[in-house]
Amino acid sequence: MNKSSKIYVAGHRGLVGSAILRKLEIEGYENLIVRTSKQLDLRDKQQVDSFFELEKPEFVFLAAAKVGGIVANNEFPADFIRDNLMIQTNVIDASYRNQVEKLLFLGSTCIYPKLAPQPLKEEYLLTGPLEPTNDAYALAKIAGIKMCQSYNKQYGTNYISAMPTNLYGENDNFDLQSSHVMPALIRKFHEAKLSNQSLVEVWGTGTPKREFLYSDDLANACVYLMNHYNDDEIINIGVGEDVSIKELAETVQRVVGFEGELKFDTTKPDGTPRKLVDTTKINQLGWKADVKLEDGISLAYTWFLNNTETLK
Ligand code: GDP
Repeated sequence: MNKSSKIYVAGHRGLVGSAILRKLEIEGYENLIVRTSKQLDLRDKQQVDSFFELEKPEFVFLAAAKVGGIVANNEFPADFIRDNLMIQTNVIDASYRNQVEKLLFLGSTCIYPKLAPQPLKEEYLLTGPLEPTNDAYALAKIAGIKMCQSYNKQYGTNYISAMPTNLYGENDNFDLQSSHVMPALIRKFHEAKLSNQSLVEVWGTGTPKREFLYSDDLANACVYLMNHYNDDEIINIGVGEDVSIKELAETVQRVVGFEGELKFDTTKPDGTPRKLVDTTKINQLGWKADVKLEDGISLAYTWFLNNTETLK
């Protein structure tokens, strides 16, 4: 990309897309195209085709997706598989038909088999059964990866796929029913502090381990990959370290300043036991994460405090 390249960020209001957009603006990219989901429904092929024919972007960051936490994925699998297959199929195909020079597709680490060895290396993809609480979402993402690779093979395109670990940061979804664990805990501890509650409920047993990447770090990695990675094998983006949900809860509790107790609700699912990515490949390419967990939580909490009015 050069500073005047025409760049489309799909999903620019979400956690990932908004971070990519901020990064591109900071770096001085001046020809950025965005559309809200109201202006352009990416599930609608005709709308997507017309948009690409009109705008003719040269680079595409495909950060638009239907995402959600463990309970949302478990309860609405049809929405997750349908919307994601439609969004990615429409955008990837329109990119090809309109001669997009390069596209970055974003997957997720839930594409890896539930019981794959840790840390998760890229080559473990499709070596075993998926975690059942989010297999519909994961299969849509696996189809997206395969679609990028197939277009590269058949049509000679340059579509790359990155697999970020669990993310958090600005513009996250803080709705307790559908969010991921980090925003849920920030909100629960904050509300418990305000109302002087003595207990906060944490789902599951607290023993699963997760790795958390701050959205600005992810955005740095995405722009880096767009400029330096031209292989159609998937590439992980992570920090290389994980924590148990219990340790995470204690850290969020400390940052937010809630003084009560934690209660583990074991009627809620734990999900996959561990999900730590191997970051050797992206580290060797010259990129590594910067933001420490506790610092990232403080940043996310500050953003939450400044935006509570507009949150669901
Ligand atoms: P996952 O990484 O796909 O399993 O998605 P989540 O971020 O939703 O959940 C990660 C882990 O955090 C699971 O073991 C959840 O049971 C646990 N967890 C603890 N409290 C919460 C909560 O309030 N919300 C969510 N979404 N997960 C929670």
